[in-house]
Amino acid sequence: MVTLVGAGPGGRGLLTLAGAEALRQAEVVVYDRLVSEEILALIPEGAERADVGKEQSRHPVPQAEINALLARYAQDGRRVVRLKGGDSFLFGRGGEECEYLKAHGIPFRVIPGVTSALAAPAMAGIPVTHRDFCSSVHIITAHARGNAPLEIDYGSLVRLRGTLVFLMGVTALPEICAGLLAAGLSPDTPAAVVENGARPHQRKLVSTAAGLPDAAREMGLKSPAVIVVGGVCTLSDTLDWFTPLPLHGRTVIVTRPKARAGRLSDKLRALGAEVIECPCIETVLRADLSALQEALAVPHDWAVFTSPAGVHLTVQALRQLGRDLRVLYGLRFAAVGCATAEALEAYGLSADLTPEQYDGTHLAEALLHELPEGGAALLLRASGGSPELPGRLAEAGIRVSDVPVYDTVCGAAEAAYLRERLASADAAAFTSASTVRGFMQAAGDCVPSGFAAACIGPQTAKEAAHYGLRVKTAQNATVEALAACVEELFSDRKGETE
Ligand code: SAH
Repeated sequence: MVTLVGAGPGGRGLLTLAGAEALRQAEVVVYDRLVSEEILALIPEGAERADVGKEQSRHPVPQAEINALLARYAQDGRRVVRLKGGDSFLFGRGGEECEYLKAHGIPFRVIPGVTSALAAPAMAGIPVTHRDFCSSVHIITAHARGNAPLEIDYGSLVRLRGTLVFLMGVTALPEICAGLLAAGLSPDTPAAVVENGARPHQRKLVSTAAGLPDAAREMGLKSPAVIVVGGVCTLSDTLDWFTPLPLHGRTVIVTRPKARAGRLSDKLRALGAEVIECPCIETVLRADLSALQEALAVPHDWAVFTSPAGVHLTVQALRQLGRDLRVLYGLRFAAVGCATAEALEAYGLSADLTPEQYDGTHLAEALLHELPEGGAALLLRASGGSPELPGRLAEAGIRVSDVPVYDTVCGAAEAAYLRERLASADAAAFTSASTVRGFMQAAGDCVPSGFAAACIGPQTAKEAAHYGLRVKTAQNATVEALAACVEELFSDRKGETE
């Protein structure tokens, strides 16, 4: 079975649910040049990837070979996804591929995609139709078969008086505009180019049919871009909501483990950023759980969790020891923040205490309110955690068992990827001191001095400052505040630590 999936114009937000599901189940993915990194990141790890869309000048795989490749994979009995930019049937040769599969008795299905012909204008504030301006929209390819000259019937297009959208037209832009003008289009007809539409680095140009080619050359606009001609282009000035987003055009590295990165990445994308997810740490259960075993033999009043990983890995550790959460029966539970409290909820447990500010210092103070002198606290956290929390408790006469349940190790597997992507990044977001260490360890020599770092709290900020990064600290330890902190890195340079 071959599934043709339209990947949409850019990020995963504009991939359909059916498309995402097909990708999730794919065993082989055959994809084109226009499919974004963000979509490719959704390909399951075990699936084979075939890139058949090398740069135009560097010989893309001929269509006949692609057809044969699809058939071969399918005949091997594999679930094949044919992934194309935008919609597969709009100038995507999807029809030809289906014909070939049909002729060879190979079953296929088609999942439509959001086409760039409509999405790129939309993301630039250009509705392709609007009752005040037109009553039709026409999508035209400016790419001729082989090396043949363009065969565009400019006269008919001009007479239609609808919005015209040209694809594959950047090189031919002067020819297209000249053709339309020669066919009687008024030179001051509004016209626009949207480059990298719906992508974080989208650029747009709004001009007139006469002025567009020169202005596009000046801006250095390149493919992929759509050309829009018609009165609706004037609406871009007032309706463009995408370019003004605070992080538009910025690239931010998210360093937390993939399982936890999603929410922060989504927040940053919603602010217009391009996000590079590059986990700089991994949390792994400790091989040696003797400290936990010993601590469980001693009575405690409170179990204290300082991260969601601490909760999940404690459950795993107990299982490894042949026990379960009932060993904590009768203890009260403290969580450093709401994410940790949510992790407890997953096991049907409520946190008895969460400090107002989500950090170790406030957690210690809140616990000291609850714990009498001589009381006992069981800290279940990462090895090498900050000494502040146990120190403050011990100082106040609390017996502390600081039990390392897991280690945070640098995600070396991602180091090469991080180093490669760093050159195009503007900032990194850090959710713990260990992510800062992992980041520096993986790519320290490639990090420009004064590289911008958004840090979730003071411990993280201290670590980042230690490495000479330009630091900004979130107002509180939440994903929302961290995203706002990234925004501040670019909106002002006040209150930073050098
Ligand atoms: N099937 C695709 C179009 C393939 S033809 C679709 O439905 O979108 C390739 C052309 O699509 C490019 O030359 C460019 O004109 C346009 N295109 C594709 N992605 C684009 C994007 N993100 N921004 C602007 N134009 C894009």
